[in-house]
Amino acid sequence: MRELTEIKAFSKPLITNLAKLGISSVHALLLHLPLRYIDETRITAIRDLRAGDAAQVEGEIIHAEVAYKPRKALIAKLEDMSGQLTLRFLNFYPSQIAALKVGAKLRVYGEVRSGFFGYEMVHPSTKAVGLKTEVAETLTPVYPTVAGLTQPSLRKAIGIALAQNCMQETLPARLYRDMRLPAFADSLRALHNPPPDSVLQALENKESPYWRRLAFDELLAQQLSMRKHYARRRSVSAPQFSRSRLLVSALLKSLPFALTQAQQKVALEIEQDLTQPHPMQRLLQGDVGSGKTIVACMAALQSIENNWQVAFMAPTEILAEQHYRKMLGWLTPLNIQITWLTGSQTKKEREAALAGIADGSAQFVVGTHALFQDAVRFRNLGLAIIDEQHRFGVHQRLALRQKGQPEPHQLMMSATPIPRTLSMSYYADLDVSVIDELPPGRSPIVTKLISDSRRDEILQRVREACLQGNQAYWVCPLIEESEALQLATANDTFALMQNEFPELKIGLVHGRMKPAEKQAVMAAFSAGELQLLVATTVIEVGVDVPNASLMVIEHAERMGLSQLHQLRGRVGRGAAKSTCILLYQNKLSETARARLKVIYESNDGFAIAQADLHIRGPGELLGVRQSGVPMLRIADLERDADLLEAAKSVADGLLEKHPQQVEAHLDRWMSSAGDLVKV
Ligand code: ADP
Ligand code: MG
Repeated sequence: MRELTEIKAFSKPLITNLAKLGISSVHALLLHLPLRYIDETRITAIRDLRAGDAAQVEGEIIHAEVAYKPRKALIAKLEDMSGQLTLRFLNFYPSQIAALKVGAKLRVYGEVRSGFFGYEMVHPSTKAVGLKTEVAETLTPVYPTVAGLTQPSLRKAIGIALAQNCMQETLPARLYRDMRLPAFADSLRALHNPPPDSVLQALENKESPYWRRLAFDELLAQQLSMRKHYARRRSVSAPQFSRSRLLVSALLKSLPFALTQAQQKVALEIEQDLTQPHPMQRLLQGDVGSGKTIVACMAALQSIENNWQVAFMAPTEILAEQHYRKMLGWLTPLNIQITWLTGSQTKKEREAALAGIADGSAQFVVGTHALFQDAVRFRNLGLAIIDEQHRFGVHQRLALRQKGQPEPHQLMMSATPIPRTLSMSYYADLDVSVIDELPPGRSPIVTKLISDSRRDEILQRVREACLQGNQAYWVCPLIEESEALQLATANDTFALMQNEFPELKIGLVHGRMKPAEKQAVMAAFSAGELQLLVATTVIEVGVDVPNASLMVIEHAERMGLSQLHQLRGRVGRGAAKSTCILLYQNKLSETARARLKVIYESNDGFAIAQADLHIRGPGELLGVRQSGVPMLRIADLERDADLLEAAKSVADGLLEKHPQQVEAHLDRWMSSAGDLVKV
């Protein structure tokens, strides 16, 4: 039985409410697990209460009143054989006044705290008891829920689901026994209705074997589905390229620098992939400034030399434009036809671009997400390159992939390092190449954390740097809540700077400008015509102006660590010694200070990403990748790292030896993962 509608006892309104929780199948309902538990299995004598404990007490009301000072409250005293306890309600209904009348026998559950008159409970749950009311046999689960669905109805619904015989074991018994994990059905039963002797803390920390079993199953489902994607790729055909004999070496000869060892290594890995008859899906990861663009360009040349078109997609117009210019510089001497496509072109420009893409005369197409729109038809797309891939959703990458027939190769690039646990889980369907070395001659960026109260000194520094022929960025505070406010702040900052530095040439760039305006400003900054660039975080990714050597970031405490690291990577791209100043507002909390400490103590994107992962969880690092990739709900990559290792090591064996159980396993977990898209 799979559908909720197949359970007769479930009413329509119940099913509607469950849907609001994202629950649409019996599997999903069974996997809707408690947030915490309350222990109503025993009754504690009032004398034995301790402040901070949650406890159940039974006794008789000996006093009740509605007090009006200091504020309106219903206050009652409950007495048992051992002592008295105050019950206090700040919001209450007439029905509660009635229930708490003197002489009522009640069982109450709540958190104990010390009040003025001994122990008290604020807003305890209460129920009337008769002589023979039994205590609960199991701990009482408390579930995440929505308005309109009470805990008792949810508990009842789950109780019914537990009785439906939908908990078949999907793992070979030996496997979970060797890992000292309980059976699936036992785990579900124990978590929904834990026996009275369960250790509450282990249950709530998700450290009990029952939680671990489910965390393992979830991680395993993720591994299995990634393996299946991976295998699917091996069964699909892609254009097979021979190695480049002319273009790549011609390009390398024309460069003013030699590739680093790390660049050579990853270039080889990619070249090798492209000689295969199956689509490459490789992530090229390298810290900001490690030189990913040239590596991507080499792959592009291999495709072009084999007479297949290349698409190069960037997340912002500024970045797409910059890549376009760079490619013009590198590839025009090789007689390669480069085309540019963005949302902001005139109709005529756009039609010309589309025509070239369709007839194949455009060999290398650079653009923004305009590239995957319907109107764009490639004659023969062989390779899709996606810069700053974490800025794109799975759907967008998929759309670009579908622009080729057979399926094109895909090279994704990212400066955000992937901590090992993430690459083993969320990225397990990709191959990964890492550039782990920066080009020589870069002096490390000096990062300073300075209070906003020393702004005058900083302004002086900016002036000096610019007057000495360097260029600087001034990054406006991030205001995520409101685009209008963000715009106002950018304009204000710009006005302030113009006022402060009448002698400097200053530009402004922000997200609300027309693309052509943005490009004009960036081009002027790039050409050295502007000395100071006031900017919002639109410059976060990719922007490459080597002469810029000073960056000031306002309200740094509002930004994520990886984001700060990316921003900071806009300086230190040339030989000049670079500085990044993080300004913070005076009242910096301890945690905020600890966070910022990571960034000023480390220039290592990897360590920073790891800290970010620790502080903010994977959502932040995964970016929009998470839309379309099922997020883990039970397992935690840090806490359950051992289970992740185990899931990874058994996945292949299961696929091979127990394909049917694998299907059942995926079915259970994927059907309960909500809106899942096949990647
Ligand atoms: P990212 O990896 O952040 O995208 P880019 O590809 O923009 O970095 O490269 C940063 C800068 O370093 C560019 O100006 C690029 O031309 C230059 N560069 C790339 N590789 C090398 C190298 N091996 N030696 C010197 N400079 C290099
Ligand atoms: Mg880049």
